[in-house]
Amino acid sequence: MSMLGALDAYHIPRTCKECGGVMIFKGVGEYHCEDCGFVDYDDYGKVRMYIENHKGATAAEIEKEVGVAQRTVRHLLKDGRIEIAEGSKVYLRCELCGKQIRSGQFCPDCEMKVHRNLEEKQREMMRKVAKGFGMEKKSEEGQKRFVRE
Ligand SMILES: [Zn+2]
Ligand SMILES: [Zn+2]
Repeated sequence: MSMLGALDAYHIPRTCKECGGVMIFKGVGEYHCEDCGFVDYDDYGKVRMYIENHKGATAAEIEKEVGVAQRTVRHLLKDGRIEIAEGSKVYLRCELCGKQIRSGQFCPDCEMKVHRNLEEKQREMMRKVAKGFGMEKKSEEGQKRFVRE
């Protein structure tokens, strides 16, 4: 997805609902009209503000109250752009073990495992490449194979 595509997904207000003026980005999902000063928020701003004021909010509640789809809420959480407040009703689970987490895709344990797994795959791939070039320590087999072909 392009940068603009990703931004569009968060429903950025571009024109003022009050006067039609240009909305200026003020940071953390907040926009001010340059003409009348009307304040508006994109999905990120709405969710962030709602969570700040409602510490125990669930994704379903957020969808109902601020009209941001649960899918978008989860996306923001996965992006690490928002984090569930300490002590809140957790509404994000580790995709591997189902443990409750506050942001991201995995719990710290599983994230470690995922990385270890990736590292092992990388090692395996490098071993295969080394073997293919006859660079492994026991190079005899490799040499034989080359002779045969
Ligand atoms: Zn305005
Ligand atoms: Zn986990």
